[in-house]
Amino acid sequence: MQITIHRGTHQIGGCVTEIYHEGHRLFIDLGETLPGTSQAAPLVIEGLTQGDTSRSALFITHYHEDHIGQILEAQLQIPIYMGKTALAIYKCGKGHLARLLQPNGVNKFEQILKRMADVKTFVGGAMLSWGPFRITPLMVDHSAFDAYMFVIEAGGTRLLYTGDFRGHGFRSKALPKLLAVYAKDIDYVISEGTNIYRPVETESESSLQRRFMDEFRQNKYNFVLMASSNLDRAFSLYHAAYQTERIFLCDSYQKRLMEIVASNHGIYSNFYKIRQSIYTPPRNKKGQFYFPDKLQRLMQAKGFCMLIRDNRHFWKAVSQFDGDADQAIYYSLWEGYLDEKSPAYNPNMKEALSNYPNYKSMHTSGHCDIRTLGKMFRQVKPRKGIIPIHTEHPDRFNALFGNIAPVITLQDGETYSCNEQ
Ligand SMILES: [Zn+2]
Ligand SMILES: [Zn+2]
Repeated sequence: MQITIHRGTHQIGGCVTEIYHEGHRLFIDLGETLPGTSQAAPLVIEGLTQGDTSRSALFITHYHEDHIGQILEAQLQIPIYMGKTALAIYKCGKGHLARLLQPNGVNKFEQILKRMADVKTFVGGAMLSWGPFRITPLMVDHSAFDAYMFVIEAGGTRLLYTGDFRGHGFRSKALPKLLAVYAKDIDYVISEGTNIYRPVETESESSLQRRFMDEFRQNKYNFVLMASSNLDRAFSLYHAAYQTERIFLCDSYQKRLMEIVASNHGIYSNFYKIRQSIYTPPRNKKGQFYFPDKLQRLMQAKGFCMLIRDNRHFWKAVSQFDGDADQAIYYSLWEGYLDEKSPAYNPNMKEALSNYPNYKSMHTSGHCDIRTLGKMFRQVKPRKGIIPIHTEHPDRFNALFGNIAPVITLQDGETYSCNEQ
């Protein structure tokens, strides 16, 4: 077996990994580099973007753009595999964007929808065979819903590809149990390391939810700026609203995403059941939200939590409560978007937020902290090595985890041969 990380050895995002065995190429993720990252030459990968693709397949860990954003670069005949709910969420998102751009004719999002029409889906714990490979997807907790690790086996080598994951989410407790069952006798772990330079421990989603509930008790008109695809956060806020006797509002797109999760996962967990109303304010012809009298009366009587995104229509909706002492704005996204020094700096969002200087930052990372990484490595105990990916600091792995297993740091495009070790 050979491992090539085509992109992602020294950056967060843009991930493309190839596992090669007996003429078959198993690709994992085909991501966009993060916004602001200096764009290297376009990806040219034999067996993926060009050349003989008859023995290639592409597995997607989750729907974040840094893992799937370049999906159109994959040659058409390559089969694509993805989690069932993740695919539904991804298609819903692209459908939403395609409709927004409809008058401009065929757009990129429509092309993506076409490409995704025949994607094969998998579910956690169910092993798939493809070529000489056996692949077992393990569902993990991440800020994208229905995200996966993969246990991959071929030619006597077993590796664990972590994808993006964390230990402080609502569903994270399942991970050590899954690893105990499915990730035995692992030779290599290819591991994400997004937060390798962040504090050792990260606030849990449940602690964040408790803080939101405190806020909702104190403030009546709550607007939370967050990512629509962060569905655990959306459900967390939904429950926080009803437990503090506020009503819950979002736009119809966000509601559709929540309904997808509810219909696929509500049978397994009450957390994903929608039992109380999700109110969706209608829009006028210009796309602006308005609150009809009945809804407005309810909002004023009960107070509310409304999920918003950074666009003019949402900010206009927020402004209807400007000047009211009960209005509260929360920023529930990564701080990097507001940091002028960050490559992903978003000046428009910063400007919109500057109208609300008292906004509160309420967020926790979608990625594991150092403590969780160490725990995972100690449990899995890879026999031959840890290979960092999805990190700006692969060099830091050795100091932290070199005592658990040898750390193998690769360069983008370098091929590592497992058999020779
Ligand atoms: Zn990522
Ligand atoms: Zn991710």
